[in-house]
Amino acid sequence: MPSTARIVALDVLDVRFPTSEHLDGSDAMNPEPDYSAAYVRLCTDAGDGHEGHALAFTTGRGNDVQANAIAALAPYVVGRTVTDICDDLGGFARTLVHDPQLRWLGPEKGAMHMATGAVVNAAWDLAAKRAGLPVWRFLGEMSPEELVAQVDFRWLSDALTPEEAVDILRRAEPGRRDRIDLLLAGGYPAYTTSPGWLGYTDEKLARLAREAVTDGFSQIKLKVGASVEDDVRRMTAAREAVGAGVRIAVDANQRWDVQQAIDWMRELAPYDPYWIEEPTSPDDILGHATIRRALRPIKVATGEHVANRVVFKQLLQAGAVDIVQIDSTRVGGINENIAILLLAAKFGVPVCPHAGGVGLCEMVQHLAMFDYVAVSGTMHNRVIEYVDHLHEHFIDPVRIRHGRYVAPTLPGLSAQMHPASLEEYAYPTGPVWASRV
Ligand SMILES: [Mg+2]
Repeated sequence: MPSTARIVALDVLDVRFPTSEHLDGSDAMNPEPDYSAAYVRLCTDAGDGHEGHALAFTTGRGNDVQANAIAALAPYVVGRTVTDICDDLGGFARTLVHDPQLRWLGPEKGAMHMATGAVVNAAWDLAAKRAGLPVWRFLGEMSPEELVAQVDFRWLSDALTPEEAVDILRRAEPGRRDRIDLLLAGGYPAYTTSPGWLGYTDEKLARLAREAVTDGFSQIKLKVGASVEDDVRRMTAAREAVGAGVRIAVDANQRWDVQQAIDWMRELAPYDPYWIEEPTSPDDILGHATIRRALRPIKVATGEHVANRVVFKQLLQAGAVDIVQIDSTRVGGINENIAILLLAAKFGVPVCPHAGGVGLCEMVQHLAMFDYVAVSGTMHNRVIEYVDHLHEHFIDPVRIRHGRYVAPTLPGLSAQMHPASLEEYAYPTGPVWASRV
C-alpha cells in the first residue's frame, strides 16, 4: 500500500432499532430504549478495500447529539495519512481529546468523549484489518512498551506509572501464546441478561432463566429497582428456576440513593445475589465505597456509565468496587480501555465487561480477550455480559457456545454492520422508520 494513502471520508450514520416496542432492554431507569448506533465509517484511498467501522451506542434520541459530536471530529481525521494514524494510535487518540474548543464540553466525559471513542475505535478496526488480525490478537501481539505507548497517563500517575504498567505487562508475557490457543479452543465465559429485563413477566423470566442454564451459562442477571416487592418476587422466581449453583447478579441502573441501595439489597440478600450493579450514581465514588462496606459479601459492580479512566482510578483507590465493568463505547476508545484494564490489574480487581445494546458484545469481547492474553492473564471470576439482541446485523456477529464467547477470527473489531441493515434502520428515512415517524 502506498504510504501516501489518506483518510478521504469520515461518514456518520444514524442507525436506530425500534426495540422499545417489545420492552427488550427495559430497566429501572431506561423504560423504553430504542437501541441505536451513531455509526462511523472511515474511508481511505488506499485501494486495498479496508475501511474502519465502529459506533457509539445510545438509546434513541441521544443519537442526534452523538452523531453531531462525531462529525465535529472529522477535521482531525480526514486528510491524514493512513499510516500516520494506524502506526501511532496512541498519538491519534490524544489529538482527538485536545481540541481547545471542543474540550470545554468535557473534558473527557459525555457525548464528546464517546465521539472520540467511536472515531478511535474505527481507527483500531482499520489498523487491525490492515494487519489481518482480530483486534484482540492485534493487541495481544504488541510488546509491553508498544501497549504502554497507547495510554495517556495524564491524571493517572498517582495510581499507575508507565513503568508499573510495563511491569504488569511483562509479568503476563510468558504464556501469551498458550492463552491465545486456549481462547481459540474454548472461548471466554459469558453471562446472560436476557432473562431479566424489567418489562418481562415472571413466567417469561423463569422460562428464560431455565433456558440460560440449559444453554450452559453459569451466571444470569436481573434488572431491579422499580419495586422492592416485585424484586423479591422476581428474585424468588429466578432462584427457583436456576437452583443454588448459578450466580444471579442484579442491576439497579443507578436507581437508588446510597442508604436506599443498602436497605433494598438487604431485602434481596436471602436469595444470594452475586453482585449489585450500578446501585447509585456512577459519579458517586464514596457512595459506592459505603455501599460496598455495608453489603459485603455481596459484590459491588459499576462501569458502563463511568465517564473516564480518572473515575475508574478513584473507584479503585477508594476500595469502592469489586468488579470493574468496562464498556467499549463509553470512554475514549480502546486506548483508554487499555488504561482501565491496567488499573484494574494493578489493584487486583476483576474486569467483567458491560455489553448488550447494539454492537457492544461484538466490540468488548476483544478487550476481555486481550486482557486475558496480555494483562491479567486469567479468566478467574471474569465473565462478559451477553444479550441476544441485534447480532444478525453484524458481518462478524458474536457467537456463543456452551455459555462462552467464541474467539473472533476475522480481522478488525467486529463492529461492521451489513450494508442492508445500515439502510433499513437509517433514521428517520430508512424503510423501518419511514412508516413510524
Ligand atoms: Mg447494567
